[in-house]
Amino acid sequence: MPTYSEMANRPVLSQPVYEAGRPIEVVAREFGLDPQSVIKLASNENPLGPSPLGLAAAQKALANCHLYPDGGSTFLREKLAKIWSMEPNQFVIGNGSNEVMILLAQAFLRPGDEVVFGSQAFIVYKLATLLQGATPVEVPMPNYCHDLKAMRAAVTERTRIMFLASPNNPTGGTDKPEDIIALAQSLPDHVIFCLDEAYTEYLDASADLRALIKAGRKVVITRTFSKAYGLAGLRVGYLLGSTEVCGLLNRVRQPFNVNLPALAAAEAALDDQAFLARSKAVNATGIAQLKQGLNQLGYKYIDGKANFLAAEIPNADAVFQSLQKVGVIVRPLRGYGMTGWLRLTVGTEPQNARLLAELARLK
Ligand SMILES: *Cc1c(COP(=O)(O)O)cnc(C)c1O
Repeated sequence: MPTYSEMANRPVLSQPVYEAGRPIEVVAREFGLDPQSVIKLASNENPLGPSPLGLAAAQKALANCHLYPDGGSTFLREKLAKIWSMEPNQFVIGNGSNEVMILLAQAFLRPGDEVVFGSQAFIVYKLATLLQGATPVEVPMPNYCHDLKAMRAAVTERTRIMFLASPNNPTGGTDKPEDIIALAQSLPDHVIFCLDEAYTEYLDASADLRALIKAGRKVVITRTFSKAYGLAGLRVGYLLGSTEVCGLLNRVRQPFNVNLPALAAAEAALDDQAFLARSKAVNATGIAQLKQGLNQLGYKYIDGKANFLAAEIPNADAVFQSLQKVGVIVRPLRGYGMTGWLRLTVGTEPQNARLLAELARLK
């Protein structure tokens, strides 16, 4: 009698496990702590909480949760179209931007195809690639920065997708908008360039690829409501591309992939410019605070503009454990091949101070 494992599709068996940030309640139970006292600086969530306009809209929408959500995400796509000066059918809404990347892989990858991304790129690119039986081509990142020339040089006849996040997670490095545009422009027509802009709201300038999309180049952009809008728990993100690519992805996605309160929250959060500005300001101060603290401790970090810093900390694994014991959750980067590194999400001023004080104590 075959086992389930023997019956499983081959890529399922070799699928790496995604190591998420540990939840507050789980850590609190494990270490006998009051959940109220635990701070999570592990998943690049917004320390200010959810966008107030988004939260209010989600709460209101819950009263109608006996109804299916709008499977076409009509109003959110229309609103995004206005903001971006594109057409509503150039957007695909996903259960987080993770989902739209997986849809892209499902729609376009088959065994033998290659997908190009950096060696310390967001892990979802690799997961999505491997699950389709396609081949990840991981381009080395010297000093944990993308080598865009090497990425271009890694493109072959078999390449179907190139993923690039700027800022990149978990390293935090950012590529220059003009370099990103040049890379996108340089790619052959059989390669889809996916620019992951999960943290773009924290930047002062990002690459505008709309002209390339309009010119018919195979370029897609992904965005999320999980970070600067503070809606990670509701799971909403989107992809912007040509009407053709969006039509194909819509065939692959589940009919009701984004739930009712999530759609309402995302729509409302787009109007919450005050919250976005506050998130950005608190993050900028927090990044400076963390950098200064790490400098004082003599710890190296990768210079970054997103809402986290990757820091090189001796005995990172032991420090990660010790921090949990006192109710501070951060993210070890061993899984990314960055042994000896921790990723620290920017918190509120007191949260950052607490993290730095604990790091000093553990030194
Ligand atoms: C957090 C993050 C995302 C967004 O994930 P969601 O599924 O939208 O929550 C996408 N890309 C990168 C690089 C990220 O760090």
